[in-house]
Amino acid sequence: MRDFSQFLSARSFAVFLFHGVVRGSRPGIRNYTRKHLHYDEFVATIRGLCAAGEPVSMDEIVAASAGKGNLPRRAFAVTFDDGFRNNYTVAAPVLADLAVPATFYVTTGFIEANSVSWTDLIEYAFEVSGPIELSLPFTGACGTAATREEKIRLLDEIRRDAKANRDLDPCAFAGEIWRQLGVTRFEPDPELDDKMSWEQVRTLHQNPLFAVGGHGHTHRVLAYLDDRDLQGEITESLSKLRQCLGGTVVHYSYPEGQPECYSERVIDALRGRGIVCSPSAVHGVNRVGDDLFRLKRIAVV
Ligand SMILES: [Zn+2]
Repeated sequence: MRDFSQFLSARSFAVFLFHGVVRGSRPGIRNYTRKHLHYDEFVATIRGLCAAGEPVSMDEIVAASAGKGNLPRRAFAVTFDDGFRNNYTVAAPVLADLAVPATFYVTTGFIEANSVSWTDLIEYAFEVSGPIELSLPFTGACGTAATREEKIRLLDEIRRDAKANRDLDPCAFAGEIWRQLGVTRFEPDPELDDKMSWEQVRTLHQNPLFAVGGHGHTHRVLAYLDDRDLQGEITESLSKLRQCLGGTVVHYSYPEGQPECYSERVIDALRGRGIVCSPSAVHGVNRVGDDLFRLKRIAVV
């Protein structure tokens, strides 16, 4: 298990990025990226961080950056992206027991329809298929894969190429992979696929330890959208959240979060909607005073 306390220091603060926490282990293709951490590892990681540092909320980071209060030494924040149900059922009780604040950035379209991202759909298709033969010239990836290792290598390539292609509609792309592999039915794995209900999102928000923020409505890369779609995506996600939570929303995180996924135009659009902080998924730690729309995070995988 990796020791994440190595990222804590007296001169910086760390923001950790989680997606999910599961109790079962999965030896197949699904969750090969370890997007969902095993429960035991999650508990050990959070305990280890608490022993080595001081947990803070994203609100405390925002306040410290405005000169209202100081962060403790070796401060760290816990964040979750996407809105998986296991955030509520598995992770939140652990965090509440240990009094660790957390911010949950949810993709409102996933919550509304309990739907699944295009990457999860592609991983599913690879898992249920035998030997794979794909022809995907528009991503630059094409190839065959028979073993688990070969499938993972091909998935990594597809994921990288598809994310870098701003002209690609990722949902249509996942559909094309399903078509080529002859997959027609999705049988969800509840632990990996279920998203929170609105009621669960609201319950998290009502806990003073926790905050809820936006993470797109469709999870499309914000910087790839034209002005109209960008405004639409942000407006839709925030109005759904405000409707659910009955108050203002000031936190956001960028879907995918890599340097090409956000821009000054995206940041202006979020600021214009009342957002005060939006961390990226770029790896690294931060200092008080760093731009709250360009904070780095450390993915716990
Ligand atoms: Zn995401």
